[in-house]
Amino acid sequence: MQPESRVTEGIPSTPSFFQEQSGDRLAAIRQEMEYLNTIGKRFVAAIDRFHVHRALLAALQELYGFSACCILLKEQPPELFILSCQPLSALFIEEMIQRIASAASVIDFPHIEVAQLARTAYFDAPDEGAQFRTQEAIEGTEIGSCLNIPLTVENRIIGILSLFDELVGTFDTDLLRLTTMIADYAAVALENVRLRERENALWRQAELERQRLELIIRSMAEGLLITDAQGALISLNQSARHLLAPVSYAFPLNASGMPLHQLAATSNIPWLHRLAVIMDEALAGKTVMNQELIAGESGETVPLTLSISAAPLHDVTILTTRPTGVVAVLNDVTANKQMEQLKDEFVSVVSHELRTPLTAIKGYTQHLVRRIERRIRKMREGGRDQTAPLTELPESYDLRSLSIVQSQTEHLERLINDLLDHSRVQWGQLNLHYESFHLADVLVSCVHSVQASAEQHTISLDIQGQGSKILADRSRIEQVIGSLLDNAVKYSPQGGQVMVQLRDHEDSYLVNVIDQGIGISPEQLEHIFERFYRVRNAASRQYAGIGLGLYVAKAIVEQHGGHIWLTSNQNTHGTTFHITLPHVPPPNAAREPEADPSG
Ligand code: ADP
Repeated sequence: MQPESRVTEGIPSTPSFFQEQSGDRLAAIRQEMEYLNTIGKRFVAAIDRFHVHRALLAALQELYGFSACCILLKEQPPELFILSCQPLSALFIEEMIQRIASAASVIDFPHIEVAQLARTAYFDAPDEGAQFRTQEAIEGTEIGSCLNIPLTVENRIIGILSLFDELVGTFDTDLLRLTTMIADYAAVALENVRLRERENALWRQAELERQRLELIIRSMAEGLLITDAQGALISLNQSARHLLAPVSYAFPLNASGMPLHQLAATSNIPWLHRLAVIMDEALAGKTVMNQELIAGESGETVPLTLSISAAPLHDVTILTTRPTGVVAVLNDVTANKQMEQLKDEFVSVVSHELRTPLTAIKGYTQHLVRRIERRIRKMREGGRDQTAPLTELPESYDLRSLSIVQSQTEHLERLINDLLDHSRVQWGQLNLHYESFHLADVLVSCVHSVQASAEQHTISLDIQGQGSKILADRSRIEQVIGSLLDNAVKYSPQGGQVMVQLRDHEDSYLVNVIDQGIGISPEQLEHIFERFYRVRNAASRQYAGIGLGLYVAKAIVEQHGGHIWLTSNQNTHGTTFHITLPHVPPPNAAREPEADPSG
């Protein structure tokens, strides 16, 4: 059946109609503008894409009568909306979709599968009684006319508008300009709707994130403080309020608006000053990690102790390097401190208790050794059994056994001394007894004593400089050098060279203890001076020790106003410990009051 033409049957309100009828060009232009204005308002009022479709359909229907209007949007996956104005046959719909797909391929759309487009198309029949695929749909009706117009926004194609009719010649070329204008309005309205939808989705997502974050912050066991760019508290979570509740007298939690350092200045509470300093450091752009802060009463056995980490907050949307605030996390470490204190007390008490019997064992062993030595001497000087070799005498066997007891007792004594020293360091009671001596003498005596029991090693001494006079605690310095030399020997199991160097710098001495042993890996370097730290690897397990020697050595060196550090290279093998010791300790170095020479 050849469809007949149904070209615009004089819709009275169209501008072309007025232009043709009145012949008054100016009036026609005015009317056209009014018409476009009305249509524009309808598009502006559209709140979603369905309203835009309806506005578009209504505007187009004022120009032509047609069967269907289709909008294909260039999205991923592409979205096709079919608005039917009358019942459509399945064949008609199928052909429409094919034509839309081929039109899309012409104007730079990504490849579209016709079958998929057919499956996912949205159908709409805004006109009353215009049911698609109904019984009234004339089976076998073909497309008589078709018009495709790209939908563009700022020269960017966002989709295609396709109009279809069963009759031939429906779409008048005279009305093409007007149709394109309407399509442009629709394109802008659709783009606005898309942007609004995207914005709403982003807002919804941001709001969800915000709620989630709020929930996390509220349920955090750690306290959270947030300040503004001036350092004034603007937010505290539940845990922070709880943590600071016992000290709220010092911390007016509702004093928002006042920077922390100002609050600190008006109070005489030291920990508030510390907190303000930490927050100010973070405000200056520094990240502060695990700073301990005693926030409780100083009289308490273990006062409330907080571990604080603070970091600057930056607003990525503002082009400034200055932080917009600070976020600080507070951890209550009081229970850990209590445990540590109990542990330290236990270690200290046990070490003291062990020392008493040890002193007796040492004394009596010494006494026995001397007695047996005397007896052997007497035998040698002409006693009985001249024929038996001296080594086979029962006394010689006793002497050897006793010397093992003696060396094991000394080992035990060193361990106990380390434990006692550890307690002293912990409680700040490592009292130094200063005297003037030559550092070189101490190095010489340490090298001799360690060399005596290190046959596989060659310990050499390299002393450079004018002199080595120092004011320090001699026995403590011996202890430090002894520890380093013991380690140098212990951790170079294959033997080899150990070198002790002494250099005189301007106002301090530098001592280097260099070995060719197993070395220390870079990731372990930073922990090596921590108490009870021992390198954990297959090789180190075979060496006895409890990881206190270096901890105590560091405390001793630092109390003298010096520094201790190390360099190590596992590849080339070996470790070098460096110590600097000032010629004269700085005035603030802790020391015992010197004895009054007058007696
Ligand atoms: P320890 O009693 O375990 O020797 P230290 O405090 O003296 O305790 O040393 C701590 C750890 O440092 C040791 O367990 C060891 O793993 C490592 N260490 C110390 N000195 C050396 C060294 N010269 N070479 C390699 N590793 C060393």
